Amino acid sequence: MLGRMYEGQDCSVARALEVVGDRWTLLILRDLSFGLKRFDEFQQSLGIAPNVLTDRLKRLDQEGLVKRVRYQETPERFEYRQTKKALELQPVIFFLAKWGDRYRPDPLGPPRLSLHDNCGGKVNEKLVCSRCKKDVWFDSIYTEANPTHAKVK
Ligand SMILES: [Zn+2]
Repeated sequence: MLGRMYEGQDCSVARALEVVGDRWTLLILRDLSFGLKRFDEFQQSLGIAPNVLTDRLKRLDQEGLVKRVRYQETPERFEYRQTKKALELQPVIFFLAKWGDRYRPDPLGPPRLSLHDNCGGKVNEKLVCSRCKKDVWFDSIYTEANPTHAKVK
């Protein structure tokens, strides 16, 4: 996505990074997983320049990670939905967040909590629900803002 190809790298990680190695791209995918869909929502969440956001969304579309869906005709407006290909990056985003919480912790705790959709229990990095003790997969995890962060704002 950076327009940078890792030529000479015979490596699966390098090939994946050609698509998602740009930080805006992963943050857009993160926001999509939080339920954001529209250009102005991404712009507000990320504080990203409009031309950069347009470029990243176009590339995500070209790579088949998002689907553009028109929600208004005049003026024409689109929203973005994750494809299966994007949903399969959920583990990357989940574990990146867990890594960030461990090695770059926020004093107020994790900004978002990963929760089990069956019972609302917190899901740990071993993908076990703290409440019902069941193994959890990514399709049954949702996130919400950690209340400890809401108090500050
Ligand atoms: Zn549970």
